[in-house]
Amino acid sequence: MKTFCGRANPTTGAVEWLEEDEDYDYHQEIARSRYADMLHDKDRNTKYYQGIRAAVHRVKERGEKAIVLDIGTGTGLLSMMAAAAGADFCYAVEVFRPMANAAVKIVEKNGFRDKIKVINKHSTEITVGPDGDMQYRANILVTELFDTELIGEGALPTYEHAHKYLVQEGCEAVPHRATVYVQLVESRRMWSWNKLFPVRVKAEDGEKIIVSPSEMENCPGVPSVCDIQLNQMPSSDFIVLSDVVTMFSVDFSKPVRSASTCYRVQLEAVKPGKAQIVLSWWDIDMDPSGMIKCTIAPYWVNPTSAFQWRDHWMQCVYFLPCEEPVLQGEKLYLTACRDAYCVWYKLQKARGEEENKADVHVESPVCRCQAHLLWNRPRFGELNDQNRTHQYIKSLMTVLKKDSVCLCISDGSLLPVLTHYLGAKQVYLMQYLEEYIPLEFCKANHLEDKIKIIEARPELLTSSHLEDKKISVLVGEPFFTTSLLPWHNLYFWYARTAVATHLTSNVTVLPQAASLHMMIVEFQDLWRIRSPCGTCEGFDVRTMDDMINNSLKFRESKEAEPHPLWEYPCKALSDPQEVLTFDFRKTVPQQCLSTEDSVNLVRKGESHGAVLWMEYHLAADISVSTGLMQMSNEKVFLQCNLFSVYFFSSVIESETLSDLPSAVMYAINFDPKTGEIAMDFKL
Ligand code: SAH
Repeated sequence: MKTFCGRANPTTGAVEWLEEDEDYDYHQEIARSRYADMLHDKDRNTKYYQGIRAAVHRVKERGEKAIVLDIGTGTGLLSMMAAAAGADFCYAVEVFRPMANAAVKIVEKNGFRDKIKVINKHSTEITVGPDGDMQYRANILVTELFDTELIGEGALPTYEHAHKYLVQEGCEAVPHRATVYVQLVESRRMWSWNKLFPVRVKAEDGEKIIVSPSEMENCPGVPSVCDIQLNQMPSSDFIVLSDVVTMFSVDFSKPVRSASTCYRVQLEAVKPGKAQIVLSWWDIDMDPSGMIKCTIAPYWVNPTSAFQWRDHWMQCVYFLPCEEPVLQGEKLYLTACRDAYCVWYKLQKARGEEENKADVHVESPVCRCQAHLLWNRPRFGELNDQNRTHQYIKSLMTVLKKDSVCLCISDGSLLPVLTHYLGAKQVYLMQYLEEYIPLEFCKANHLEDKIKIIEARPELLTSSHLEDKKISVLVGEPFFTTSLLPWHNLYFWYARTAVATHLTSNVTVLPQAASLHMMIVEFQDLWRIRSPCGTCEGFDVRTMDDMINNSLKFRESKEAEPHPLWEYPCKALSDPQEVLTFDFRKTVPQQCLSTEDSVNLVRKGESHGAVLWMEYHLAADISVSTGLMQMSNEKVFLQCNLFSVYFFSSVIESETLSDLPSAVMYAINFDPKTGEIAMDFKL
């Protein structure tokens, strides 16, 4: 069987579907899975172990045999805990075949072959009876099927089915219950990931404001959760408007319903402000008494308790459909609605009782403006970055003349409007996707006749599209919706090459160049997602390590991967280094661009990997970075989505500067035929 995998192709701007080997998906999934991260989560593991021991003990005390059903066993960890705690038999169910195979090996290696039966099925396919997968219904239900949003991985339907068909009435459940908490906040930073702010442009003929289409202003967005490492969000970036309140809880030891429902709580605003965002997280009680609790609350909720870093569970940011000004002491109703897999929120002011009793049902949000479907949250943030916009304005002002004929090539960009306001005589726009958004922008700003949208691919551009004019200024952010890695936006260079015959001989290309930058770093925590586990709570899980390693060796996984690095602090071990430049004033060359060099390590630490980002040189002395923004005290602050990390397969420790391997060698190659950048590092 073959699988098709989408990959951005920077030479065409398209996402192409490549046929890959049947193992491809598996390797991708394993290499980039959260399994290692979960096994490194000491807090989670010890609490599960305590909860499982207590559950087995309670069942044994009743004089019953302890029969465990472990749904989503992964490595078999929770079943091994149960067996070690004295369970009589465990059914360990795992739907993902490579994991189920690994679980069989791990269970065997740890000597639990007689106690644990691994079943490679989805739990809803399990049969019970003398000839079934399970001989009897279980009396202990153990699972770890939770994502950051709690229910996003399908925990509710799985529990609903298990209670109906796979476990006994009155069974023990580990975890016993989950509770979801919320807190209302105002945050310009987080709100900027969901709404486009008006852009102010100081032009020669006075200040202009670029407004968003009203569809966009009033759009409720999409219900997909925004999960982030909230612990990296400084408290100065949000204003708390309410106390932390319990939104809802689920008792896993009783029948669970997955059907859509709503929950409502009353809040009191503790400060005046703009209610924009609901922050949310959960905890799970491993036992009925609530003594064994595993929480993913952010730092300000339990400031004294020990902190566990984890990436498989983070915290949720929910955007309210529209911002609501609130007064201190004002009573508010917050409604959480959920279907089987996701949650969304609505805020109402408490007026008369009558009104509030009515209509608590909230429809799942549907994006009407398209922007929430086409732009991810970091893209919204980028467009709202005033400093960045200012750099574009400054550089456009230096290059635009009254008679400039401008062509913008970028997706969903405000550049055409900026270019027009800054005085270009004629502005054309060409983009890969997103015809709808710029059209609506033109309408909202009454510029339909000023900005012409060309519906042709760059290679099919004709002089009639340009009304027989030649382009004197070619601009791009560049940004394309299909980009996954920083250099995928080099599509701008290919498009520029394709339209070369339509440019004047002294055309200005903005940005005039791009450069790829790199830095060797030590991550505070992110290294965990790639680090072998060895043993976990005394169980040998090296089979899992080998499996991940094997998948990492697979071609694709050796590439850099995107990570929003503001969420993952790291220490710079080298200075940032420019490794390749791409001159947009010229067309794409025929030959490869390559570099082989070394970068000096200037600080001691563990070299976990190289981080890479692009900088765009808009005009002389004006650049914007998609990555490194500022370095202070060796800690690196990074911005935006277009950050890639190349993890080194072996870590080098340099304790002292004197015994340092003092440099990292690298070879980086840009192939103009594929638009891809290959890299290799030697420690
Ligand atoms: N229990 C392990 C792994 C948890 S990850 C541990 O705690 O370390 C969750 C696993 O559940 C994944 O491997 C996923 O493939 C599997 N899974 C999710 N829903 C399932 C279902 N309904 N039936 C079988 N496996 C499921």
